Amino acid sequence: MPHAGSPLMAALHSRLHSDRPSRVWRTRFAPAPTGYLHLGHLVNAVCVWGLARAHGGDVLLRIEDHDRTRCRPEFEAALLDDLEWLGFAPDVYPVSSFRPDVAGAETAHPARQSDQEPRYAAALESLSARGLVYACACTRRDIAQLVPRAPGEEARYPGTCREAAVDPLAHFARRVRLPDVAVTFEDLRLGVVTQHPAQQCGDLLVRDRHAQWTYQFAVVVDDMAHDIDVVIRGEDLLGSTGRQWALAALLGRDTPPLTLHHALITHADGSKLSKANRDTSLRELRAAGWSAERLIGEAAYRAGMLDTARALPAHAVADLFAASGDHDISAA
Ligand code: GLU
Repeated sequence: MPHAGSPLMAALHSRLHSDRPSRVWRTRFAPAPTGYLHLGHLVNAVCVWGLARAHGGDVLLRIEDHDRTRCRPEFEAALLDDLEWLGFAPDVYPVSSFRPDVAGAETAHPARQSDQEPRYAAALESLSARGLVYACACTRRDIAQLVPRAPGEEARYPGTCREAAVDPLAHFARRVRLPDVAVTFEDLRLGVVTQHPAQQCGDLLVRDRHAQWTYQFAVVVDDMAHDIDVVIRGEDLLGSTGRQWALAALLGRDTPPLTLHHALITHADGSKLSKANRDTSLRELRAAGWSAERLIGEAAYRAGMLDTARALPAHAVADLFAASGDHDISAA
């Protein structure tokens, strides 16, 4: 992790403390309830709460359930339970605020994405009013046929519908025209990163053909609505960052958040952890007798933040980020 004496930690302090003396800086923990939390989420939680607690930030909890086909209320309930059991308490929107009220009625929550239709519609409208949005009739297959690519390579939208005047009433999908410019940002672990979204992904899909808001759009609109100063997430999302900052700039954000893209932990064979892997699900490990402290320590150890796998209570994760030279995120 970045240690206290590093130049980027100095950047964190100057940007977040001197530039914003009137309020505490803010980061977020933003899981998608598409399955049970696993050790990879726990690494993320350790980084989110660790950096915030060590350097005077607040943590906001957001439920990223924009994808209605994959998210389930029981996974949301499970992740809330897991967070409480682990001892990670959000400063903004406590776990209890997401629970159905005593009468059992579901109420709209400002940090649950499926409740934000008006917020996303207003953001889209503000871009539309400036001529930055167009309807798109292309399917994934259309795009794959138009733009052949190597396995694992990202499909760049070739702009087929940009000038095609697709009937917006006949098609739900919307794309935002991205300016053809490079985006540079500062990451607390990786240093200065430059990306070119218009060439990587082309015009950004913000609502899909089933009228669902996309991850890219929802996360940018929410990070702005929630005043997020620092985005802490796994490096698997690094490729999304430039396009998110390009979109945020179009929506009027002057200074993009700082980021910390942390390393991911994998299975012994190098494969990615997923919500389908029972061996790394926090629920399964808890049922198998692991304590919260042991699990947090295990996640920190596997991510290279501890030299040995030892018990680490949630309230002690700040220590991983506070002592200069304790360990180095660049190695993680
Ligand atoms: N909801 C995303 C996930 O669970 C994280 C999004 C983000 O950090 O930008 O992987």
